[in-house]
Amino acid sequence: MPWVKDKMCVGCGVCVEECCADAISMSEGIAFIDDARCIRCGVCHDVCAEDAIRHDGERIPQEVESNLAWIKGFLEHQYYSGNTKKQKELIGRMKRYFHKERKVAEKTIEQLDTWMTAEHGS
Ligand code: SF4
Ligand code: SF4
Repeated sequence: MPWVKDKMCVGCGVCVEECCADAISMSEGIAFIDDARCIRCGVCHDVCAEDAIRHDGERIPQEVESNLAWIKGFLEHQYYSGNTKKQKELIGRMKRYFHKERKVAEKTIEQLDTWMTAEHGS
């Protein structure tokens, strides 16, 4: 999923004009990408002279922080407060959840490879 690094965007509007899915709009002089409309064509990466449109991989640390904040939010609930057993159980559940998410991603990649081979031979 492409995203715009606000500080690098100069508001030229080129990406808005070139996006074939009307997924980019301007908000207060900065480009904004609507994830729900984006069809992942990658054109916006190519047309932005400022390199302001960035790739997903750069957001991994930020997404990890967000996941940790999400889990910490659960731990702050009174249900878990001062109860080490319940806290450990929650951590175990959340680890299983992320293992499941990893499996889903791995299986999806496998299926995409199978699909590409069947459709295009490579
Ligand atoms: S092309 Fe780049 S600099 Fe121009 S509006 Fe889009 S993101 Fe901003
Ligand atoms: S990847 Fe394609 S569809 Fe998505 S925002 Fe960029 S230009 Fe638009």
